[in-house]
Amino acid sequence: MLLVVLMKMYRAVIVGFGGMGFHHIDLMKEAKQLQCYGVYDIDPSKYEKNRVKNLKIYPSYEAVLQDQEVDLVVIATPNDIHKDLCIQALEAHKHVVCEKPVTLNANEMKAIMEVANRVGMVFMVHQNRRWDEDYIMIKNLLEKQTLGDVFNIESRVHGANGVPGDWRKEKRYGGGMMLDWGVHLIDQILDCVHATIISIYCDLSFRLGNDCDDGFQLILTFDNSMKARIEVGTTNFIKMPRWYVQGANGTAMINEWGSTGDITIRNDMVSEVVLKPVKAGAGFTKTMAPPSEDFTTKVKMDNPKDEKLPFYANVVATIEGGTAYIKNEQVLRVMDIMDHAIQASEKNQVIKYNDLYFNQHE
Ligand code: NAD
Repeated sequence: MLLVVLMKMYRAVIVGFGGMGFHHIDLMKEAKQLQCYGVYDIDPSKYEKNRVKNLKIYPSYEAVLQDQEVDLVVIATPNDIHKDLCIQALEAHKHVVCEKPVTLNANEMKAIMEVANRVGMVFMVHQNRRWDEDYIMIKNLLEKQTLGDVFNIESRVHGANGVPGDWRKEKRYGGGMMLDWGVHLIDQILDCVHATIISIYCDLSFRLGNDCDDGFQLILTFDNSMKARIEVGTTNFIKMPRWYVQGANGTAMINEWGSTGDITIRNDMVSEVVLKPVKAGAGFTKTMAPPSEDFTTKVKMDNPKDEKLPFYANVVATIEGGTAYIKNEQVLRVMDIMDHAIQASEKNQVIKYNDLYFNQHE
């Protein structure tokens, strides 16, 4: 007897068909049971022929929400309207994927979560940088404890283009680099460091004269004494490495996105090594002399191995009763940390942090 298993196909509509909205067409190809069905953008000039091939074009957002053929709404508009669009779609009994930053602050995210819980629809945020190869190398490194006790993680993204685009420069649209990039880099740190945050310091940069930040330096201190230093810069004509990690037994560094990384590990025979002073600048130093070949071993970081499903495959699995890889409580924790980072910068103070959402992150 021939057994035919019919898999349900889910139909998705992209709302906000700019740069990222268009990219979601490709991302959806990662999930066999997902069809990119239609688009809606408030600006009809986004419907150029080659962009909307085989897609239904909706005349309004209401038309998307009223269409019974639509299972999933993907929100890829500017940040300030994410909250209202997400809530409307959930109330219309659609599953929702929302671009990052999910909202402008933690309270707005809580409002969406309340509605999602009440109506029982899936709500997931596209925190896609958990799939970055350089990040996966760092996550694997921490899991294997290659460096011993890690006490410092530095995560940076640097560019020299200023803040590009229009709405990204304006606070009222949810612009600024904390919301744009901070949300990714904080999310990565929380995903790989399993400890409670006890204090936050942040210095937002307003060098470019916009009313929202053009970069920042953020320090998160954990209850296990680890510090994460997160930095975003848009006026860095020479970049610093993407990752720099220090442990009791070694140091790791990754220079670029997805590139291979280097690890230098202290050898066991360290106590037998006699350090020689070297000339450094106008003086001599033993403390800052390079580690000798006998002192350390250099290795390349492992290729990133990652077992998890692609984002949209996990969205479909979650709709079908599986576990969401990006949990809403985790996203809420990131939003809450960003709220406190902004406060710390305004006060120019290290602020104590009550890590309310830590347990949900695990
Ligand atoms: P964009 O300006 O290129 O596109 C936004 C689109 O939304 C525009 O076409 C605009 O006309 C449309 N829009 C505005 N108001 C609308 C409304 N009320 N209804 C329907 N459409 C509306 O911006 P973008 O770079 O595509 O960013 C969109 C979202 O994607 C932002 O939240 C951004 O943070 C996010 N994003 C995420 C990543 C990532 O890697 N996850 C990368 C880039 C952007």
